[in-house]
Amino acid sequence: MKKLLIDQNNGELIKVKVKDVVFGGKEKVIISGPCSIESYDIMMRIGKELKDLGVHMLRGGAFKPRTSPYDFQGLKEEGLKIIKSVSEEINIPIVTEVMDARDIDNALNYTDMIQVGSRNMYNYTLLKELGRTNSPILLKRGLSATISEWICAAEYIMIEGNTNVVLCERGIRTFESYTRNTLDLNSVAVIKQKYRIPVIVDPSHGTGIRELVPSMSLASITAGADGLIIESHISPDNAVSDARQTVSMKSLENIIEGVKKLEQVF
Ligand code: PEP
Ligand code: MN
Repeated sequence: MKKLLIDQNNGELIKVKVKDVVFGGKEKVIISGPCSIESYDIMMRIGKELKDLGVHMLRGGAFKPRTSPYDFQGLKEEGLKIIKSVSEEINIPIVTEVMDARDIDNALNYTDMIQVGSRNMYNYTLLKELGRTNSPILLKRGLSATISEWICAAEYIMIEGNTNVVLCERGIRTFESYTRNTLDLNSVAVIKQKYRIPVIVDPSHGTGIRELVPSMSLASITAGADGLIIESHISPDNAVSDARQTVSMKSLENIIEGVKKLEQVF
């Protein structure tokens, strides 16, 4: 097999920049925000709190890949407008998911980084189109993808010319049903050892249970992750999607404190 693009780069770790935020540097990148963009008011209140906590990037979905078609599907372009205006007002870069290649051009008017969600990791048309942009991409691991398949998905983007790819481990489907997914931290250790591409962890979807998010966040950093993406809300129980895994601002503050301590060690 041809040598993988992400295995090259003269032995140096590839660093991915999103405005002033650097993935793959010494500082761990913390991304947080609600699962879905709900309203301007709620997004602004969350954004301000996160900024005060030192969170580097704001997340929030406008196009939501919900398991049931009867569940809230996101505010779409209206949501993109909301998150962009919050981002500009409080000066924080954003990441949001695009599910359809036809939405890429328009989304780039709003977002600083595009997320490829777990369900779309195998959508090679979408990956190739993203490879033709120069936007930073957050590529989540497919819910049943092997590490090799995930790496190949990153190659689909990079081979088109866009090397601004950050991987995100978000748990895989296993026989275990206590947690929503099984957070595979082996993958983080493998990627750090074998590849030169930044990798972050999503302990929210990786566990599905907010009480497990703090410990798995710290475990992720210990495994070598370059950052975390954590779902948070000013009123977690009232989040319109993924409430059960959404942490409070207080809990996020404690997680960030722990990450700062681990940064001194790893
Ligand atoms: C999300 O980030 O809200 C999301 C839907 O994630 P995933 O694609 O990992 O399920
Ligand atoms: Mn979610």
